[in-house]
Amino acid sequence: MDIVSAASGCRSCRQDGLITFLSLGAIPLTDAYVPQTLVGDPEPRYPLDLAFCPGCSLVQILLTVPPEEIFERYSYYSSFSETLLSHSREHVGQLIADRHLASDSLVIELASNDGYLLRNFVEQGIPVLGIDPALGPADAAEAIGVPTLREFFGAGVAARLKAEGKVADVVIANNVLAHVPDVNGFVEGIAIILAEDGIAEIEVPYVRDLIDGLEFDTIYHEHLCYFSITALDTLFRRHGLWLERVQAVPIHGGSVRLTVGRHPDERTSVTAYLEQEEAGGLSRIDYYLEFAGRVAEVRRGLRTKLLELRSGGSRIAAYGAAAKGTVLLNSSGIGSDLIDFVADKSPHKQGKYMPGVGIPIVPPDRLLQESPEYALLLVWNLRDEVVREQRAYLEAGGRFIIPIPVQIEVGKEDLPSAPSG
Ligand SMILES: [Zn+2]
Repeated sequence: MDIVSAASGCRSCRQDGLITFLSLGAIPLTDAYVPQTLVGDPEPRYPLDLAFCPGCSLVQILLTVPPEEIFERYSYYSSFSETLLSHSREHVGQLIADRHLASDSLVIELASNDGYLLRNFVEQGIPVLGIDPALGPADAAEAIGVPTLREFFGAGVAARLKAEGKVADVVIANNVLAHVPDVNGFVEGIAIILAEDGIAEIEVPYVRDLIDGLEFDTIYHEHLCYFSITALDTLFRRHGLWLERVQAVPIHGGSVRLTVGRHPDERTSVTAYLEQEEAGGLSRIDYYLEFAGRVAEVRRGLRTKLLELRSGGSRIAAYGAAAKGTVLLNSSGIGSDLIDFVADKSPHKQGKYMPGVGIPIVPPDRLLQESPEYALLLVWNLRDEVVREQRAYLEAGGRFIIPIPVQIEVGKEDLPSAPSG
């Protein structure tokens, strides 16, 4: 089955000569949790290599898993994340005020999921259209009054909407651009449906946060591009659009919110980012090679530590069966010989096994019941939340190993003192 295709040239500028600077090995798709009946069967694995384009500075992975493989069975519902909901409500309020949106406006969201964001506009009487190929979430959106087109967005869909007289005062695209195989088609589509004085607001994870925070386990097959402002500026200009503003947003391990329009007005924040990136070396390969060296040290150091603990007689578990855990375990050579089980809250994952490494996923109570001496925290981004929830495990003497960006241990001595009374 032809599941993947290799990139021929840069995903953005199409130039040849991409330089591979990091190879994480052959890794399964991160959501390919293995049911009990298939344990031991061969699992499909694909090389996970990260490359830099000297032509436009875009960081990207070399293989493309067709989006149909991923998104039509995509079962992530945004409405289950309270952080995301409050982040969205705030964003919508600001957009309505800034752009003077009213009942004659149109807001189009690309990758609108279950309508968690657009519903805020609907409640204010502002017309919306969601576009999302994931069928389950799209049905959920329709059910709460958010009209949704079940398609992949691109230049073709945009031209059809425009022919129907639909142009957008605001286009929103959060956490989708990095997953799109044809970035040029996607941005061209935005250029087509945007009203003359409309704006697009786009959130993407920021490559500088990934590199500086050593978040190499957020690299996976479904995440095709890792954007700098330098690379984005070139991409938008190619389609007659301008980056007008860049803001840092503390979501998904560090993201940027981009405001894009047709007119190069005020570009103060954009210029500042471009200058910082130039000074920081983000348009040069050395910056990325240095990152690859640090990643190799983390992978080696983690495996060595676990081997030492195990040979000293300690039992080790892990916490959080997230996508990043699949990448960390597989790329660091950490399997069921070192880790007994992965604790996770999701009933959809419990009873299955971590892709590629055959470690069983169990409910979180098992951590306290079995009290392994150590638990590797795979969801290091949720550290405070997990430490709070697993207070009893730590009080009983258990210790979390935080793998990234610097390997540290958290034990009962790190617990905030219990509230008195
Ligand atoms: Zn390029």
